[in-house]
Formats: sequence, C-alpha cells, structure tokens
Amino acid sequence: QAKAQGGGRFVCFEKLMHPRALARLQLEHDLTRALELEELSLCYQPVVCLRTGGLKGFEVLLRWQHSKKGWISPGEFIPVAEEIGLISTLGWWVLEQSCSQLQQWRAEIPQGLNIVLNVNLSLLQLKQVNLVGQIEKLLRSHQIPGHCLNLEITETSFLESSQLDASILHQLKALGVQLSIDDFGTGYSSLSRLHQLPLDQIKIDREFVDGIETDGSKEAIAQTIITLAHNLGAQLVCEGIETPAQCSKLQQLGCEYGQGYLFSRPLIPPSATALLQHPHFQQAINWSSYGCSV
Ligand code: C2E
Ligand code: MG
Ligand code: MG
Ligand code: MG
Repeated sequence: QAKAQGGGRFVCFEKLMHPRALARLQLEHDLTRALELEELSLCYQPVVCLRTGGLKGFEVLLRWQHSKKGWISPGEFIPVAEEIGLISTLGWWVLEQSCSQLQQWRAEIPQGLNIVLNVNLSLLQLKQVNLVGQIEKLLRSHQIPGHCLNLEITETSFLESSQLDASILHQLKALGVQLSIDDFGTGYSSLSRLHQLPLDQIKIDREFVDGIETDGSKEAIAQTIITLAHNLGAQLVCEGIETPAQCSKLQQLGCEYGQGYLFSRPLIPPSATALLQHPHFQQAINWSSYGCSV
C-alpha cells in the first residue's frame, strides 16, 4: 500500500519502524559488506597447559571493526550472520585465514610445528555440502597436518540438531582433524549422545569458572565435567580463567588446559607471533608480561 502511494510514503513507513528493527536491518546490510571493506580480522587467544604454564596453541576469534560503530562483538554479529545465511562465507574466510597464518608460523618458527589452532565452526557450516572435501584441500594446500586444526562446535548447536549427521564428524576425524565441544555445561547433552560423538576436547563454559573458588556447587559441576571428559578420553579446557584462585582450583580438580584473561587476552597476529618466538613457549611462559588486548 505504501508503494502504491508513491516513494514518499515509504519514508513515512521507515519512520514508523521500530528503531531496533531499523538498527538490525542496518547491521545486516553492513555485515554483508564487511569482508570486501576489509573490516574483519582475526585474533588469537592462547590456550595454556595448566600443568606447565606452556602454550598449547590458540583459539581463533573473529573481530569486526565497523567504520562508524567501532568494534562489534561476535556474540552480536555471528547470530545475525547465521540468520541471513552469511555464516558459510564468513566461516570459510576464517578457516582460510587461520590456515594461512598457521602455515606461516610453521614455516618461520621451528618450534611452532606442534601449535594447534582452534577454530569455531557454526552448525550451518557442518551442514554445508562438501565441507569435508574443502577442509581436506585447505589442509593439503597449506601443508598442515589434520591434528593441528581443532574445530569447535557449541554444545547447544549439537543439541539443536537432531538432524546433524554424526557421520560428518567421523569424516572430519578421518582427516585427522580434532573436534571440540564448546561452551559445555550450557546445554543439556544426553550422555549417550556424547558417548557416540568422536570428541577430542571438551571446553567448560566460563559460567562455571566464574565463582568456582567459593561456590561449592560450581566446583562440583566442574569436577563432574572433568571426570566425564576423562572417561570419554577427551582433553579438558576451561574457558574464562581470570584469577590465580580460579586457576589453582581448576589445577587441583585435574583440569589440563585453560584460557582466560589471567594468561592473555586475544592477541593481534604480531603479538601472537612474538609469543611464539619466545624460546621456551611450550614449557613455560611468564604470562604476566603478555596480554596485549584486542
Ligand atoms: P567462544 O568460542 O566460547 O570464545 C570464548 C569467548 O570468551 C571469546 O569471546 C573470548 O574473548 C572470551 N574470553 C576469553 N577469556 C576470557 C576471560 O577470561 N573472561 C571473559 N569474560 N571472557 C573471556 P568473543 O571473542 O567475544 O567471542 C564470543 C563468541 O563468538 C565465541 O565464544 C564464539 O562462539 C563466537 N565466535 C567468535 N569467532 C567466531 C568464528 O570465527 N566463527 C564462529 N562460528 N563463531 C565465532
Ligand atoms: Mg570457542
Ligand atoms: Mg566457549
Ligand atoms: Mg562462548
């Protein structure tokens, strides 16, 4: 009807639109252009061995610097990218960039050959036709052994998808790639389902780390998840470790790996490279001297 009455009516309609709906439309529009405008970048958060203090690898985290609005968090734009069908494009870009970066580190830093990159994968990417073939090609063209790439999938997306064909996960495993279940504890996994998935790593959500030093029920949950992981033969990573007290509690509970601001914020690539140039980065690092934030 607005159209029939001429262009002017359309402006009126926009004025009547809820400001939040308009902001959302604007965000969708800007996101579709973010790649070509080179507003996207990756940062790398260290994953630390809690026994030694050495560096195991990094989690790759996507960043968007909007020309007018500044940094927009992935918690805000990833769900939008999923809804508008852009996540496959963005996710593929993240995988390619991650593999290029890893190839460069492996070539330039002799001790860097064991570094593992964790890359977040959306459920929609797992449903993409030929994802496995594309990842296989990507690894081959960058000369990266499968075990140096660890794909993270959130617990909730595993659950949302009763249709998710576990055979995709087995095909990825056949490439040697590692698989993680991310934000564990925020969904409600059935134990029998978990047992059927070929998981290498479980990442406990930071919700359970926050307050673990004082809250007995959080400690009990963390202990249960750690035991579960070990029974499944999976490694355990704790997210969001911010204080020494949290860290020592988790060490005491038998958690092997951790990530968090206590060690380092996500790093821009040159800072991550500097960390890798540390001569003993796999044995121990003085984390208090790092933490260049993004
Ligand atoms: P995630 O995969 O669970 O990543 C961990 C998040 O915790 C990151 O937030 C990281 O910056 C934050 N974090 C790390 N240590 C601490 C800490 O000590 N304290 C606190 N408060 N936070 C900490 P970020 O970068 O904002 O990412 C949010 C989520 O967005 C990620 O959660 C992930 O689910 C998603 N995401 C990020 N990059 C990608 C991507 O390339 N693809 C997909 N599909 N999702 C992504
Ligand atoms: Mg993650
Ligand atoms: Mg997580
Ligand atoms: Mg998360």
